[in-house]
Order: sequence, then C-alpha cells, then structure tokens
Amino acid sequence: MSVPAFLPRPQLQRVFDALQHLGYRIVGPVARDGALVYEDITSASELPWGVAARQDAGSFRLEAGAGERCFAWANGPQALKPLVFAPVEPLWRMERKGAGFEVRMTQATCRPTAVIGVRACDLAALALQDRHFLGGLHADAHYAGRREDLLLIAVNCTHPAATCFCASTGDGPQVSRGFDLALTELDEGYTVAVGSPPGEKLLALLAPAPATADQLERERAALHRAAAAQTRGLPGRQLRDVLMARLDHPRWQEVAERCLACGNCTAVCPTCFCHAEIESASLDGATSLHLREWDSCFGERHGYIHGKQLRPGTRERYRQWLVHKLATWHDQYGRSGCVGCGRCITWCPAAIDLTEEAAALCAGAA
Ligand code: SF4
Ligand code: SF4
Repeated sequence: MSVPAFLPRPQLQRVFDALQHLGYRIVGPVARDGALVYEDITSASELPWGVAARQDAGSFRLEAGAGERCFAWANGPQALKPLVFAPVEPLWRMERKGAGFEVRMTQATCRPTAVIGVRACDLAALALQDRHFLGGLHADAHYAGRREDLLLIAVNCTHPAATCFCASTGDGPQVSRGFDLALTELDEGYTVAVGSPPGEKLLALLAPAPATADQLERERAALHRAAAAQTRGLPGRQLRDVLMARLDHPRWQEVAERCLACGNCTAVCPTCFCHAEIESASLDGATSLHLREWDSCFGERHGYIHGKQLRPGTRERYRQWLVHKLATWHDQYGRSGCVGCGRCITWCPAAIDLTEEAAALCAGAA
C-alpha cells in the first residue's frame, strides 16, 4: 500500500467527485434534529462543519465550536448496522396458487455505496456482524449483497465522547483494519491512508501529495490524546467468568428498577443482531410477506418460545443483554460483543451505564 498522503481541506470535495465518477452512492454524517445521522449526501458542504457533540449518560447535545472541522465528534446514534442489516425487510413472498402457495425469495436492493466518516468502533462492530451473518454454513444473502457493495472511508477519532471506551476494548480510537481509506482530520486538512485495492484506486484519482513528517506526528499525537482522554472502561478481570458466576447478584434487580425496557440500547448497539420473523398477510389471504425486523432482548415477544415466557421481567431481560454481550459472546464468537462505542450509555433514557453496571457486578472479584 502507498505511503500516507495529505489532502488540504478545500479539496475534500474531490473525494465526493471521485466517488461519484466511480458510480457510488455516498452516505455521510449530517446534523439533523439535534443529532448526527447518516444520510445520502452529494457534497462535502453537507457534512457537519463546525459542529461538536457533547455526550454523557442519557444525553446528546450538538454544540458549535469545532472551528473549520467536520469530524470533531465521536459518533451519532447509528453505526453501519442499518446499511447492511435492514431494520425491516421482506425475506420471501407467498402467493396463493390453487390449493397451495407459491413461495418466492426476495432479493435485497443493492447499490455500490461509499460511507464517509466511519469510526474504528463501527468497523470492529461490522467485523462482528460479518461473522454472524456471513460465517457458518449459511450466509445471509440480503446482508451479503449489501456488504459487498460497501466502500468504507473511515475517520480516525480525535474527539472521543465522554461515553466512549473503545481504547479499553481494543477497538479504537484509531482504525486498524476493514477500511478502504482512512482520514485523520488536522487543522489544515486530512492525512489519508489506504486500506484496500478499491481505496488505492480512489486515492489514485485524487493524486494527493505525501503527508509530511510533521503532519504524521500531529496525527499520532492527536490519536494518543484521544485514547488517553477516555475515562470509562470495562473491568479487565475475567469478565466472562465473573458474570457467569454472578447470575443471581442483587445488582440485576437494582438495575431493573431503573431500566424502562425500552430497547434503545439494543437498537443503537452496532453489534446487536437479534430479530423477529413476522408474517404480514393481505386481508384477502391471497398473499403474505415474511418479514425480518430488528428485535430486542428487552421486548416481551423475544423471550416467548413455544408457549413459555423465558424472561418474564426486566431483571431477566437486562441480565440477558449484558451477559450475552460481555460473556457468552466469547463462547459464540471468541470475543466480547462490545466494541466500546458508548451508544447504549448515551441513548439510554434512564442513563444506565453498562461500564458502571459491569464494574458493580464484578466488584471484589479476584
Ligand atoms: S438499559 Fe436503558 S436503553 Fe436499555 S432498555 Fe433499559 S432503559 Fe432502555
Ligand atoms: S454494548 Fe454499548 S458500548 Fe458496547 S458496542 Fe453495544 S452500544 Fe456500543
């Protein structure tokens, strides 16, 4: 791969021009409704210039004050998940034919899509979703089609939120793999690193100058500061084994008394993949769509299996969420299901903080 390059800020639009020349739809962050959300964009002018974001448990506020920067914030409520694992989509369609039904599998609508502004935690989460949807005997065709069409332009995090703890999980703040291009925003522009052959092709169209030693040193220092600024973290001591040994800890009931079982945490979590399967039949009974829809371990239907409710209360549902995410995920995928993005902390209306809960549950463990 080529040496890191440098793109002056006024030339950021050239990235958009090159992507459009290559036929990509572009998705990027915009400030809307008091949040930072991914939307289809066509121009660098639509990025959140000068916007910063203050996050804490149960709170997200946009602020001015980022000067001329457009990536001076950590993340919004979405990650890459909705772009590959659709919140709701039909998997097949049935149509009455004589005495029976004809079943037709549906196909996902796919289009080459470049996402600009992807963070290290989101790449780590995408790698976990890939293992879930593409690993094993049966790859999910809908996910696979959309995933194959993604081009990922990452941005190294230099402004972590107070809720971020990717340094503690080893997933950030610097991107290390899974990207096509990686930018780091400096005062005067962007260092650019290549992570794949499609990224190399894109960079060749931009033909930028190499980054200077001073620019690379400022990039290194900014990433070091970003990691050092993170104050939250997960307990490092045998978290899986401690949680599994403490399934009857009184803390589960204490957190259940605060938790609203709203499912916000699972909706914003970039690694959560649980879903429900739903039949949506036409009123005349002639056709039916079989839908896959995001679901949450906090919902009543998710624990209802064969006439029995397995997780009758919020205590059992919160425990399911935390123990799966931080403990049994190790058995399933060889690592924790948490990439330290902090979204479940920011977007919890009850300001429940999983790092605080994990620490309380592990207190006193050897
Ligand atoms: S932990 Fe927070 S976000 Fe998650 S279900 Fe409970 S109240 Fe909702
Ligand atoms: S559990 Fe919370 S902090 Fe961890 S990846 Fe999910 S949303 Fe992010």
